[in-house]
Amino acid sequence: MMVDATSSLEQELNPWLAAEARFDLAAEKLGLDDGMRKVLRSPAREITVSIPVMLDDGRLEVFTGYRVQHSIARGPAKGGIRYAPDVTLDEVRALASWMTWKCAVVNIPFGGGKGGVVCDPTVLSQAELERITRRYTAEIIEFIGPEIDVPAPDMNTNEQTMAWIMDTYSMHHRQTVTAVVTGKPINLGGSHGRTEATGRGCLITALQALQHFNIDPASARVVVQGFGNVGGMAAKLMQRLGMKIITVIEYDGAVHNPKGLDVLGLMKHRQETGSILDFPEAENVDREEALFTECEILLPAAKEGVITSQNAHKLRAKILCEGANGPTTAAADEILAAQNVFVIPDILANAGGVTVSYFEWVQDRQGFFWNEQLVNGRLEEIMVNSFRDVTGYAQKYRVDNRTAAYMLALDRVSFAIKLRGIYA
Ligand code: NAD
Repeated sequence: MMVDATSSLEQELNPWLAAEARFDLAAEKLGLDDGMRKVLRSPAREITVSIPVMLDDGRLEVFTGYRVQHSIARGPAKGGIRYAPDVTLDEVRALASWMTWKCAVVNIPFGGGKGGVVCDPTVLSQAELERITRRYTAEIIEFIGPEIDVPAPDMNTNEQTMAWIMDTYSMHHRQTVTAVVTGKPINLGGSHGRTEATGRGCLITALQALQHFNIDPASARVVVQGFGNVGGMAAKLMQRLGMKIITVIEYDGAVHNPKGLDVLGLMKHRQETGSILDFPEAENVDREEALFTECEILLPAAKEGVITSQNAHKLRAKILCEGANGPTTAAADEILAAQNVFVIPDILANAGGVTVSYFEWVQDRQGFFWNEQLVNGRLEEIMVNSFRDVTGYAQKYRVDNRTAAYMLALDRVSFAIKLRGIYA
């Protein structure tokens, strides 16, 4: 019995199985035929490459790299590249399809892709990482490009990695091609507003949800899990609008102040002490229990699988704004629906990042750069429209917001495939 319980929780926590379950439900509700379901499930292209690299100590090592282009029906593939010792082709494949749905929800002209290199960046020098990145780029060079597939940073890769990819690609093409990747440094064709984009997208969708309930943002209490790029930025921007960030949860504990925490002060405190704990004018609280604090908005922005069938019934949030990818399991969805929690699903809530990546690609291709105000204004327009599209589907088909987001995405991608026709 114990074994069964463990394996069923393990299964529940598998984000790829969760994505499959949601795909199936949305396809069913849309009445998609079997043929179209097969097309939508099958990655357009999967590439596995060997990356021989000379290490600093003179040894020759061979790393494995992947790039999966799940769909190019609506435009070039788009998605990050991650470096981690446990990256698998299965994981990259699932993440690539996730990107297809996310780009479709916000209606930007991209398909979905993802890449990975099996390596442990913690034991590699900068020089070794550069050689791995350049050789990986060279190995997949004919499969990437501004019109083909546009990588971006993901776990353990950053703007320096993107600069190396851009340079390697450009050297081969004998011209500088900035639009081959996004997430670049600002003076190498990066975009203003990219760093804040995902958090800002969370804020914009959360504001829409508050409006839906006629709640004044100034009276909204927010609980944030994960005080990094997404959670930290969202908290900062939310506080700027008068929302009260009452609880922040990190991996080593949580802090709480019912009157609202000073977000910038908390960031400084963490920078100085290495932890959010023991912040003046806040109480240290239990990190597990903190997730169940009564609030208007709960923003999980740390990792996947935090809201499960085991704890969903304890949530006391009105709105769940999913900053992280896959923070809620499929089994928890039903419990949240029964409790009338208004879910802003990850493929909508955190799509601000890929939207500003799209802006970066547009600016690079135009060779004309926008100021931050223009970037933020256009991001807001896209996020608000996407929120309305998703909630419109939810009303029309009488489904929850997550199913609606998947239905919208599947509808848009399958429509593009039908319109283009099947080339034979
Ligand atoms: P990050 O590393 O900047 O921040 C994550 C934060 O969560 C860190 O402060 C970390 O200490 C904390 N954390 C880790 N484990 C925790 C735990 N168990 N409990 C509480 N806190 C924990 O990462 P990020 O870029 O902010 O990404 C966070 C999530 O958002 C990930 O799921 C990521 O895939 C997703 N996401 C990020 C972007 C983006 O643009 N950065 C875009 C879309 C989705």
